[in-house]
Amino acid sequence: MTTNAQLFETAQNLMPGGVNSPVRAFGSVGGTPVAMISGQGPYLTDTEGKEYVDLVGSWGPALLGHKHPEVTEAVRKAVDAGLGFGTSHPSEARLAELVRDRVPGAEMIRMVSTGTEATMTAVRLARGATGKNLVVKFAGCYHGHSDGLLAAAGSGVATLGLPGSAGVTEAQASETIVLEYNDRSGLETVFNEHGENIAAVITEATPANMGVVPPEPGFNQLIRDLTSKYGAKMIFDEVMTGFRITEAGYWGASGRQEGWTPDLFTFGKVIGGGLPTAAVAGSREVMEHLAPTGPVYHAGTLPGNPVAMAAGVATLEAATAEVYEHIDSKAEVVAEALTAALNDAGVEHSIQKVGSLFSVAFGTSATGVHNYTEAQSQESFRYGPFFHAMLDAGVYLPPSVFEAWFLSAAHDDAAVDRILQALPAAARAAAE
Ligand code: PLP
Repeated sequence: MTTNAQLFETAQNLMPGGVNSPVRAFGSVGGTPVAMISGQGPYLTDTEGKEYVDLVGSWGPALLGHKHPEVTEAVRKAVDAGLGFGTSHPSEARLAELVRDRVPGAEMIRMVSTGTEATMTAVRLARGATGKNLVVKFAGCYHGHSDGLLAAAGSGVATLGLPGSAGVTEAQASETIVLEYNDRSGLETVFNEHGENIAAVITEATPANMGVVPPEPGFNQLIRDLTSKYGAKMIFDEVMTGFRITEAGYWGASGRQEGWTPDLFTFGKVIGGGLPTAAVAGSREVMEHLAPTGPVYHAGTLPGNPVAMAAGVATLEAATAEVYEHIDSKAEVVAEALTAALNDAGVEHSIQKVGSLFSVAFGTSATGVHNYTEAQSQESFRYGPFFHAMLDAGVYLPPSVFEAWFLSAAHDDAAVDRILQALPAAARAAAE
């Protein structure tokens, strides 16, 4: 048997940090990353044969749990027909149709391969459609790792972004204005000062990359109002929330109930059913600026790949209202047990929750976290001991306090009970 430690040692010699994405490293919680080799329903098994209840869900795609029979069967059939042809294929139109039918405002769809590519393309599209340059984003919102969108530093009104990563030039970052999330007056001031030059505001529909931070009532509406008034595009990044959160009455988090839609959406994670697919969607008017109908270039070798499309189609077809009701109710049970365990252990905290997406913030007042500054000032040192106590008890949480916990349709009573049993000891570990 190869141990996790042996695998990690080999990996560190071959790959920077031993991982292919930094979020998988255990940097903020300490210890050795666990290498999983199989998944079934709500469970994962590591290379040492230990089983865990999975609360990472492949970072979002596993809405139905691992190895869902219909998704697996659809993928098998697609594989049997050939891995990809670089041509049009019936399944890409089927996935586009499923997105269009469920998302008001998504009249046309362009498949891409990752969420990063989706947001990068949406920003280019907004610039191409408006002829303007500046993009407004909010600190703590993650939109993938394209250069301009990595600018996340700074806070306060109209802070011109400094590079958030080495390798991003100041010229690129200077076209991104970074604001504090939920800052209404900051947003109004930026539009007063720069409105004529703003191509887009990009926002997570419900931020979930600084922990979950609910938009304050009317905040998304304000973004819609200001972008409409100044002729900028509103980009709703639903890579995380799309087809996962039911809050707004459809299976994403847009403002449908408030009677508006964004100009552009980005989707990823769930729509790929576990394979690499993401999408840009929006009104026909904006989307037709994309090549070949318009002058904004986007292309790719693999977008619309039939195997990935098969996984996405099977996932969305299986994602019925009952699936969402199940996930919502299990998330409620886990979140309630989490807060009860932390209260019993005397750990001040807030549960940050929108629908089935939630996270915990430590040392925060009962009013919770509203922006990145508050998220960063929490007692994040409590998460490491909490995480490791859960891991020891066979519950796999995201290895960072800034990540959301993901449940799935496969999390049944037995899986949830295992989580509940592990919580009290983990809460006591967090208290020390
Ligand atoms: N947008 C959001 C809201 C995300 O959460 C992520 C990834 O977690 C991305 C974009 C980037 O997606 P990907 O990792 O597929 O490039």
